[in-house]
Amino acid sequence: MDRIAIIGAGISGLSAGRILGKIHDVEIFDRAGKPGGLVKCDRIQDNLFHKVGGHIFNSKNQAVLDWFWGFFDRDREFLKARRNAKILLNGKWIGYPLENYLFQLDKGFISKVLDDFLSPDYQPKDPFSYPNFAEFLKSNFGTTLYETYFRPYNEKIWNADLSTIPLAWLEGKLPMPNLKEMLLSNIAKEEETGMVHSTFYYAKEDGSQFIANRLAEGMKIHYHTDIQKIEKREGKFWLDQNGPFDKVVYTGDVRKAGHIFGEKMVPAGLQQSLTSLPSNGTSNLFCETDPGDISWLYLPDPHVKAHRIIYTGTFAESNNRGSQRQTCVVEFSGDYSYEFMCEEAKKLPGNLKPLAFNKEPNSYILHAMGSKALVDEVRSMLRQEKVFLLGRFAEWEYYNMDKAIEAAMALAEEMA
Ligand SMILES: Cc1cc2nc3c(=O)[nH]c(=O)nc-3n(C[C@H](O)[C@H](O)[C@H](O)COP(=O)(O)OP(=O)(O)OC[C@H]3O[C@@H](n4cnc5c(N)ncnc54)[C@H](O)[C@@H]3O)c2cc1C
Repeated sequence: MDRIAIIGAGISGLSAGRILGKIHDVEIFDRAGKPGGLVKCDRIQDNLFHKVGGHIFNSKNQAVLDWFWGFFDRDREFLKARRNAKILLNGKWIGYPLENYLFQLDKGFISKVLDDFLSPDYQPKDPFSYPNFAEFLKSNFGTTLYETYFRPYNEKIWNADLSTIPLAWLEGKLPMPNLKEMLLSNIAKEEETGMVHSTFYYAKEDGSQFIANRLAEGMKIHYHTDIQKIEKREGKFWLDQNGPFDKVVYTGDVRKAGHIFGEKMVPAGLQQSLTSLPSNGTSNLFCETDPGDISWLYLPDPHVKAHRIIYTGTFAESNNRGSQRQTCVVEFSGDYSYEFMCEEAKKLPGNLKPLAFNKEPNSYILHAMGSKALVDEVRSMLRQEKVFLLGRFAEWEYYNMDKAIEAAMALAEEMA
């Protein structure tokens, strides 16, 4: 039996704690006052505010589903819903993903899209053979869809020039439709089914905070504990006065690994390279809105700063408990003031009334050329010291909750 310290009580740290805690003595440390990390929610006037995103759950991995449902009564504690997402394009609400709902667009626009598809230049290749995200989107969806939707929407959400984003991170995370599938969806008018979140589960009470709270139950968690330094003395780890630990699982930001574990474990040169890994924060405005049945509304219009509205009020009735209408979260990529977001909200549908806001300095990790190799190098160096990187920011992976759980399962096997 090892004594293991886990830094972070987000979904990764909680999952690892649960799995490793079956055979080891595990303690979790988090700077926040409650579990959940990015999935944390607050009650605002009794309405549920997802401080980041909207956090719904599903997985294509049966082992993850089996493990997850071991903690919950799925039928009694959760709702199952079908994703009902739309794109607000040129004033019209179009189905999502756009390429499957071209039939809802104007005839002139569809004609331009078809010209792109029928052009001799349209020769999509294996997605991973493109040098960057921009080239992939342009070649796969044609110039008209790229310029009208894919470029403006993705530039907003990633806050970056799409030609600087490599493709490796995309594998398994976005659907990669081919022309036949796109045309078939349009002609047969098929609903989306291929995406992992096309149907999803959502807790009847307290959304993703309910998930985090349940996973945290009975675990030894030190809240309000910001770990700044971890020292290794005579083969054992000390987190200030807490220790000795045999192993450490780190789910924090990999860019801080050198500062936390010191130069002996992460050489200064590597730490310097880590510092340059890019990420985006999100600013979220929690609002009341007119009722509807849409779960997400994507906003490619470059004149509107927000990139999407997440209608969290449609996920569970209890999310609107303090409101006469429904609630939603307007998500902006970047750091925006409350006043600015309120002004922007006036441009959006639903007669939005702001209730609260949150700024998350790091929400979306960005892959830059070479970032995967860099994180892999740091990870294998730390592993030799018995420090294990896990989670969205430590592994620098575009994980959803289910992928974070899957990674925790794989790590437990690796550490066995
Ligand atoms: C906008 C948005 C929407 C999303 N929507 C969904 C969704 O609908 N469904 C889904 O499945 N996934 C979704 N995700 C992904 C999901 O949020 C992540 O996969 C998951 O929360 C990652 O958990 P984590 O534990 O790896 O990281 P985090 O949640 O970041 O947890 C890390 C924890 O470590 C703590 N910590 C870090 N450093 C230290 C330190 N030095 N000392 C003490 N504590 C420390 C932090 O306080 C934090 O609690 C979304 C993400 C975003 C950004």
